[in-house]
Amino acid sequence: MAEKTLFQKIEAGEMEADIVYEDEQCFAFRDINPQAPVHILIVPRKLIRDLNDLEASDEPLVGHLFTGAQKLAADEGVGKGYRTVFNCGADAGQSVDHLHLHLLGGRKLDWPPG
Ligand code: AMP
Repeated sequence: MAEKTLFQKIEAGEMEADIVYEDEQCFAFRDINPQAPVHILIVPRKLIRDLNDLEASDEPLVGHLFTGAQKLAADEGVGKGYRTVFNCGADAGQSVDHLHLHLLGGRKLDWPPG
């Protein structure tokens, strides 16, 4: 079996993380190196390496990640303004090869991002 991704180790409880949400399709935890007062990663339980590996059958799952972000943003008190980001590939700064949606909020977020 392939080695677990960092996020699969968190899912399995083999690595510590501040998990803030879980359901049958995804789990979410606070980023260890937060770039905003609220910085949560929302991760599908299904191992998809990046956006380029998405298949048409994953479309409901991706939508689920976004409704999860919406709920978490409200729960965290940043529902009036937040950002969701998928980094895809090294050029975009993706460092963990397990699809994850960043949820950022709690400060003014500049545009364009760096
Ligand atoms: P990306 O750069 O888009 O692949 O995002 C990966 C994110 O995972 C980064 O923002 C890291 O700070 C975060 N990260 C790495 N290791 C951990 C960890 N053990 N617990 C929580 N977040 C982590």
